[in-house]
Amino acid sequence: MKMHILSGGRLRMKKKVYHAQAQSDEMIDLPVSCYLLKHPQGNVLFDTGCHPSIQSDAQSRWGNMAKAMVPIGAPDENVIDDLAKLNMTPLDIDVVVNSHFHTDHCGCNAFFKKATVICHAKELENAQKEDAATMGFLRMDWDHPMPIETIQGEKDIFGDGKIVLLPMPGHTPGMTTALVNLDQDGSFLLASDAVALQHNLETRSNPRNTWDQEASFSSLDEITRIFHSGSTIIFGHDIDQWRGLRKGVMSYGQ
Ligand SMILES: [Zn+2]
Repeated sequence: MKMHILSGGRLRMKKKVYHAQAQSDEMIDLPVSCYLLKHPQGNVLFDTGCHPSIQSDAQSRWGNMAKAMVPIGAPDENVIDDLAKLNMTPLDIDVVVNSHFHTDHCGCNAFFKKATVICHAKELENAQKEDAATMGFLRMDWDHPMPIETIQGEKDIFGDGKIVLLPMPGHTPGMTTALVNLDQDGSFLLASDAVALQHNLETRSNPRNTWDQEASFSSLDEITRIFHSGSTIIFGHDIDQWRGLRKGVMSYGQ
């Protein structure tokens, strides 16, 4: 199985959201990552990133959120353009996993018309609440005709230990990570916003945009255990780590 790390956009936010010690005028650049997992039984995409339209007009889709989370990527920094570089279209994807339903993680779901979407039951429930939009959940991102399969706990997608979904609540109620075991290169935990930056893991600190502090600390502790067992943790939005990763046509595994 091969894993390709694809771009889902690039955002700029106040650094204070992630680093409690930062000055209030300091900003931080955040890559948004998606992961193509080419399993022999089907192509899985973990997260779909930001909708391409936000690079030219974020306000129309995101409303006021566009002020706190400013897109700074090039027009082709999105998962659709990155798949095209691999000679793939969204219709080649069989399964979309959404780590959670924030708009920078499911913004391109609409394009994956042949896929089954997997998310945690609590995430779907939360995104359906009346005030969900005020918390970053936009119905236009996730509410489509494709089937949504919900999980309640761990799920080994193909039953062979290659892609195991591990719920890690805290950032949102249904936040889910994926432990990916590659034949070569070892195992990777796709942490998404369960750990946004390496800084958050190292200092055991939660970003400001955390739904449940205690749940998030428990998830951080679980991820620390996974790290000590030898897995590489891929953080949700860490620009320093992002620079060193193989991306696009380059891949992990074989
Ligand atoms: Zn999020």
